[in-house]
Amino acid sequence: MKYDFIIVGAGLYGAICAHELKKQGKKVLVIERREHIGGNIYTECRNGINVHKYGAHIFHTNNNDVWDYVNGFVPFNRYTNSPVANYKGELYSLPFNMYTFNKMWGVVTPKEAMNIINKQRVEANVTEAKNLEEQAISLVGTDIYEKLIKGYTMKQWGRECKDLPSFIIKRLPVRMTFDNNYFNALYQGIPIGGYTRLIERLLEGVEVLLNVDYLKPENKEKYDTSAINVIYTGPIDAYFDYRLGALEYRSVRFEDEELDIPNYQGNAVMNYTDSETPYTRIIEHKWFEFGKDVDGNDIPTTIISKEYSSEWKVGEESYYPVNDEKNNALYAEYKALADKEKNVIFGGRLAEYKYYDMDAVVEKALNMVVNIDR
Ligand code: UDP
Repeated sequence: MKYDFIIVGAGLYGAICAHELKKQGKKVLVIERREHIGGNIYTECRNGINVHKYGAHIFHTNNNDVWDYVNGFVPFNRYTNSPVANYKGELYSLPFNMYTFNKMWGVVTPKEAMNIINKQRVEANVTEAKNLEEQAISLVGTDIYEKLIKGYTMKQWGRECKDLPSFIIKRLPVRMTFDNNYFNALYQGIPIGGYTRLIERLLEGVEVLLNVDYLKPENKEKYDTSAINVIYTGPIDAYFDYRLGALEYRSVRFEDEELDIPNYQGNAVMNYTDSETPYTRIIEHKWFEFGKDVDGNDIPTTIISKEYSSEWKVGEESYYPVNDEKNNALYAEYKALADKEKNVIFGGRLAEYKYYDMDAVVEKALNMVVNIDR
């Protein structure tokens, strides 16, 4: 056998596995279907701006080890995410905090805000939140649900809030303080020079083949016979040729515009929370790095991406797993098949069908390779 491990996919999970296994002295080959490394955290430098090609990624974690680990490859900046919600031209601070409540209701104190939320919760008759709608109303009341959550969520997921699991909205903090940091995490930031740099450093000295689709039968046969083990980070249903049916994903399409102005929206992320605007948000990439290029100079132009969400079809890029009951049950069936697959380890967002944050991916990959006995 030529390799100890073939790693399918050069995203964050695959790159960490490759790095760590190489460090353990294993012979590793990474195969990537796309023409570049990095998976969905890939950033592409255009006019001095690192464009998040597959959507905005902001690294955040409470885990000291994970933070030290990634910073060991590339220093991170001090970017703090605080998106602005745009509801038909009315701007609101996110995540939901005292600035949001003040703009929505004119309230000034946390007590006044709590009183309104409690009143709306009682009026909506929500006791135990069984779905996203009830969860949202119980957290922030009906006004905020109607203006800032309902339209946005329906656009992002293509489903009614009543038909979505409540955990999706639990990602968003609700604060009775004037703190508009989107994440509660201890550490937060973006790799200086972009995410691609992080992946490049992880893959330093590792053999990587781009533009190779492992799942093509002729490739699979060829590579399977050249390695003892496979780490597969692609979609689990695609691995089994969708034999039990396709898992559902949401896909995202980006319309990029390069503009000859220095500042389009004054913030990296603006969410369009009404249901009429066809896109969910506009990303202005330069603000992830404070509008500066790698030498610290102000960038005179800007690049924006309008993000459109759509239902995924076989053959398209899959982004968000739709972790509702139906899909989770189907995933469990695929997982049972995967467990029977000798010498193949399934890991990462697509192979585990999980709405992962990046820090959790790092943690999972590190735990997996540390405990590997192959
Ligand atoms: N959400 C919302 N309004 C917003 C932002 C988020 O209703 O302005 C809800 C929506 O249901 C979304 C979820 O919160 O799916 C998680 O949003 P987040 O921005 O964390 O998702 P991601 O950045 O992973 O796309």
